[in-house]
Amino acid sequence: MIQKGNFLLLEKSEFRDWLKKQIVARPIKTLQVHHTALPNYTTRQLVNGVAKQDVFKCLEGMRNSHLSAGWAATGQNISIMEDGKVAISLDRNLNRIPAGIRGANNNSICIEIIGQFDKNCDTMTDVQKESVIHVYASLAERFKLPINTDTIVYHAWFTAKGVRLNDYTPGKSSKTCPGTAFFGDGNTITAAKKGFLPAVQKELNRLTNNIKEEDEPMTPSEKLEFEKLQQSVRDLKKELDTLTNSKDVLKKGIQEQGASIKNVKERVESLESKHAMNIPIYAKEAVEALTNLKDQCGNPVVNTPEGRSADFYSLVTVLYRAGVFK
Ligand SMILES: [Zn+2]
Repeated sequence: MIQKGNFLLLEKSEFRDWLKKQIVARPIKTLQVHHTALPNYTTRQLVNGVAKQDVFKCLEGMRNSHLSAGWAATGQNISIMEDGKVAISLDRNLNRIPAGIRGANNNSICIEIIGQFDKNCDTMTDVQKESVIHVYASLAERFKLPINTDTIVYHAWFTAKGVRLNDYTPGKSSKTCPGTAFFGDGNTITAAKKGFLPAVQKELNRLTNNIKEEDEPMTPSEKLEFEKLQQSVRDLKKELDTLTNSKDVLKKGIQEQGASIKNVKERVESLESKHAMNIPIYAKEAVEALTNLKDQCGNPVVNTPEGRSADFYSLVTVLYRAGVFK
């Protein structure tokens, strides 16, 4: 909040609280919608949404031109800058009837939106749009006004003598104000009902329900960081999937190996059992003879005659019958 010269400059976030503290003696029934046309984004020397011209220079310049026109003070009660800041005219406080729409200023507050919003002129910045919506919603809340085209009125809906028209009517309307491309939709009743008034109503609902404002949108560098983070998470997920897959493959391999080893063991046991057999009856005599056979040192030639193969027993029998063990 900065006070300088004839103006009090508020942040958008300061306006509602400031408004609540104001004592307004006169009844307020309408909120006027104007664009300044001059000054505009060109005279403000806007580069990427930032004005080079000093804000107070702009405001005092406007006041001076109003005084030169013979007015007693700044015409409007409130001005909304291109950066969303809200300027209160100290010489036209809310208790003073504004000079906004000739013949329709009683019980009204005049708000001037800095810019020229006719077709092919200035395109309202997002921060100014948000501030405009917030200011009208705060005023509607403070003065208990319903949001409609009888309470929020465009300058273009009046003749130069202040007679209310049914709509913006070229040739009859005193001006195009607040611009034939105001809020992207224009200055007609239909346009107001399409974009601007629903936006103000939505903001009023938010204020009434005391819902916190949404987070500030991300800056380009924050957005870039966020996208990098998202990519890292995606990469990690991929690696994790691969690892999970490898683990599953390993587990499966070990299980298969185990089964295969068991299989081999069974086959070996089966083969062994085929070879090792009890001494067949036909070979008993031959094996006994063999068992009794000693070498030169007196040791038995065969230590384990039991559990040998079928080939062993038949060979021993043949050798015995051939008289070899005699
Ligand atoms: Zn106007």
